[in-house]
Amino acid sequence: MENKVIFEKGKEGRRTRYLTKPEIPLKRADELLPKQFLRENLNLPSLGELDVVRHYTNLSRLNFSVDTNFYPLGSCTMKYNPKVNEALASMEEFTHVHPYQPSTDVQGALELIFNLEQILCEITGMNRFTFQASSGAAGELTGMLMIRKYHAIKKNKKTKVIVPDSAHGTNPATSSMCGYQTVIIESKENGLIDLDKLAKSCDSEVAAIMLTNPNTLGLFEENILKISEIAHKIDALLYYDGANFNPLLGITKPITMGFDAIHLNLHKTFSTPHGCGGPGAGAVGVSLAMSDFLPAPLVDKRGEDFYLNYKIKHSIGRVRSFYGNFNVLIRAYAYLTSLGADGLKRVAQNAVLNAAYIREKLKQYYEPCSILPSMHEVVFSCSRQKARGASALEIAKRLLDYGMHPPTMYFPLIVNEALMVEPTETESKETLDNFIEAMINIDKEISEEIEKVKNAPHTMPVKRVDEVYAARNLNLRWQSPGASF
Ligand SMILES: *Cc1c(COP(=O)(O)O)cnc(C)c1O
Repeated sequence: MENKVIFEKGKEGRRTRYLTKPEIPLKRADELLPKQFLRENLNLPSLGELDVVRHYTNLSRLNFSVDTNFYPLGSCTMKYNPKVNEALASMEEFTHVHPYQPSTDVQGALELIFNLEQILCEITGMNRFTFQASSGAAGELTGMLMIRKYHAIKKNKKTKVIVPDSAHGTNPATSSMCGYQTVIIESKENGLIDLDKLAKSCDSEVAAIMLTNPNTLGLFEENILKISEIAHKIDALLYYDGANFNPLLGITKPITMGFDAIHLNLHKTFSTPHGCGGPGAGAVGVSLAMSDFLPAPLVDKRGEDFYLNYKIKHSIGRVRSFYGNFNVLIRAYAYLTSLGADGLKRVAQNAVLNAAYIREKLKQYYEPCSILPSMHEVVFSCSRQKARGASALEIAKRLLDYGMHPPTMYFPLIVNEALMVEPTETESKETLDNFIEAMINIDKEISEEIEKVKNAPHTMPVKRVDEVYAARNLNLRWQSPGASF
C-alpha cells in the first residue's frame, strides 16, 4: 500500500456525481452560514468516491483490533463486544432521542438508565450510581470530589490521599486534581499492600485510600478488611478503582470489602468497543452514606413514572452535560441482561481461568511478578530475557509478527521489564495456546536468532517509530505534500 495521506491523493476537478440535479434551487454555503464559520480556502482534496473508499478501507486494515486479532492488552480489558449490543444501541428509538426532550417523552431511555443502575447496585452492593462521567479517569475524579465534599461538610482537616505504588497512574493524578498530597505506599515482595507501612502512614489528615482489588499486578488484596478498618478508624474513606471489574462479577462485592466509593469502566468490563479516547462511561457507585454527594440529576421513579431528580442534598454538581454517554449505557444494559447472573459469574471464572492458564504454561520461560495466584491478568517480568539481550519492548514488537497485539508494557511500574497480559474470558483455548506458543518461540529466538527479535516487527507497514522524538516534537497537523506517515 502506498504511504500517502489523503491530501496528497487529490486531483483538481475530480469528484463524485451520482445524484441527478435537484429540482429545488441550490444555495451556496456562504448564503446560509454566518460569516465567522466560513473560511476562504479549506484546502480539501478533490477525490472520486472509489478513491476515498479504498483509502479508508486500506487504512482500517492496517489496524489491530479485537475483531481481527488477539489483543491481550493488560488493564484495558479488550474483550469481544457482541454485535447484538451494537445493533441495539443503533436503534432509532435510542439514537433519535434528544437530551432536551421532556422526561415524559423519553420514559424508555430513563427506564434503561434506572434499570442499569439497579443491576450495578446488585452486582457491587453500592447504594447508588451516577453515569455522568465519560471515562474511568473522570469517574475517579467524580468519586474523589464527593469524598472531598464529605470531609468539607464534616469540617475534617484532610490533606493527603494514600495510593499503593502498583496503582494505575490515574489514581495519583486524581488525588492531585482534588488538591491532596499523594502518599505512595510501597508494596511487599509478594505484590500486596504492606499493612505496617500503611498503618504508619495513616494519620488523621488522610482523606482516602485509593485501591484496586485485584490490584494492577492481578493479585487479590487479601487483607482488604484490615485495610478498610485502618482507613475508617481515622475517618478516611476507601476508594475502589474498579476499572477492570471482570474477576469480581458475581463473586464478591466492593461494599462487602468496605469500599465507600467506586468507579466501574462500563467500556471495559461491560463490553463497549474502546480505545483512542472514547466513547466511555465511568459509572460511579457510592455507599448509602455518600449518596447525598452524587452529581445531579439522578433518575428516580415516582409511581410508574421515571423522572430526573435534581434534589441531591450535598451534590457536587454536574461533572458533564446531560446523562453521560447514553449509547455506552445501552450496550452495558444489553450485555448485562443477555448474560444474566449466572452468565456474569461465568465471565469472572473464565477471565481468571484464562489468565491462570497462560501463567501456568509460561512461568518456566517468563517470570511471574509474584508467587501469589493471578486473577484476571498476569504480569510477567522479562528480566531473564533482558539478561539474554532482548527487552520487554522487543518481545512485544515481535509478537506483532505473530499476528497478535502486544500486552501492556512497562506497567505496573514496580515490575522490571513488565509485560501485563489480560486474555479476557472471550478467548478460546486455541487462541490462548497460539499466544503461549508464540511467547515460547520468541524466548527461543532470543537464544538462537536474536536479530529476529531485536529488529521486530518485520511484517508491519510501520516498523519501529521513534517515540521519544515524537513526544518531544509533537505535531498533530498535516503540513506539506510529500509528508508520509
Ligand atoms: C483503564 C483504567 C483506568 C482509566 O480509565 P479510562 O476510561 O481510560 O479513563 C483507571 N484505572 C485502571 C486500573 C484502569 O485499568
